[in-house]
Amino acid sequence: MLYKRFFCLISAFVLIFSLAGCSTPSPKTPLQKFSAEFPELFDTVTTLTCYAESREEFDRYADIVRTQMMRLHRLFDIYHGYEGVNNLYTVNENAGIAPVEVDTDIIDMLAAALEGYDFSGGALNVALGPVLRIWHEYRTDGVALPPMDMLREASGLADIGELIIDRDNGTVFLQKKGMSLDVGAVGKAYAAGRALDAAREQGMTSAILNAGGNIITVGSPAVGDRDWWNVGVQNPDLDEGGAQTLLDSIKITGDMTVSTSGGYQRFYLVDGVSYNHIIDPETLMPASRYKQVTVVHKTAALADLLSTTLFILPYEQGAGIAERYNAEVLWVDLDDVWRATAGYSAISQVMGGQ
Ligand code: ADP
Ligand code: MG
Repeated sequence: MLYKRFFCLISAFVLIFSLAGCSTPSPKTPLQKFSAEFPELFDTVTTLTCYAESREEFDRYADIVRTQMMRLHRLFDIYHGYEGVNNLYTVNENAGIAPVEVDTDIIDMLAAALEGYDFSGGALNVALGPVLRIWHEYRTDGVALPPMDMLREASGLADIGELIIDRDNGTVFLQKKGMSLDVGAVGKAYAAGRALDAAREQGMTSAILNAGGNIITVGSPAVGDRDWWNVGVQNPDLDEGGAQTLLDSIKITGDMTVSTSGGYQRFYLVDGVSYNHIIDPETLMPASRYKQVTVVHKTAALADLLSTTLFILPYEQGAGIAERYNAEVLWVDLDDVWRATAGYSAISQVMGGQ
């Protein structure tokens, strides 16, 4: 189905809305709404909104979520080492030298990333570190494009077959010197999903978390008589006044993740052309098919891996993967043409599904 974008919702950066204000009396236990912001995780702002019986109960959940995400942020950090912790920085530093003993969360997250490599046919490759590092540096400088020779040479050190995960011994090894992992496409969502699982185990029943482009829901909103969350899909284009708007609102029920990958989040301009942070390993250049891709999937890490993958791949190939994984997807191309799975249309306000 092809749809023209024709609709902007409210002019607010807030991605979650209409959580309150229902006039119908609630048949559920009346819980109060609380929220907290964690600005220091994964280079983005994380917001937790939760329904709980008391401030104390909420603080307990917020503490679990923050602590878990901070722990995983450190484990997945490729730029810094931390005293007494073997993290991905340690793994990268030991490339070609020795296997590194790591926390099982590193192993589980990398196992998900390997699944991503398989289903994407190699488009999603966490061993692309050497290439991504070059793009990161040039993007930070913001003046020129990296030379293709340099990128090609780096891509010679991106063979995921050289990543050895030894679950029995709890180690990870990059077999060639110069190799490096970059888990930007999965780490944040894996961490958020894991943190919410931990809070759920401690009794949290109703929450929504937004970690820079990954929105995860737990249960249903404990307010009014509805059992779904209205989740906003951010518009890649700013409005005429330069404000962030919403492209769509989707109805999400139960434990689910909505992950968006967009060329507009991290990019730089060279000669007036925008270059984003998602790199197609085929061309070693930023993927340039879409403005954004939004994926709805029940597993946080997979939702994130899928949104990055589908941002890279041609529509037909991506649609096949979405079907295989029971993922609901919205693709917005550079001309603002919408394509969506039937399941996405059914929960979309703009496409008439609600
Ligand atoms: P965001 O980080 O904004 O949530 P994504 O989930 O789409 O966006 O992940 C983009 C990140 O994934 C990049 O910043 C980079 O670290 C990493 N990345 C980019 N291209 C690839 C690729 N082809 N394979 C694996 N990881 C990638
Ligand atoms: Mg992603």
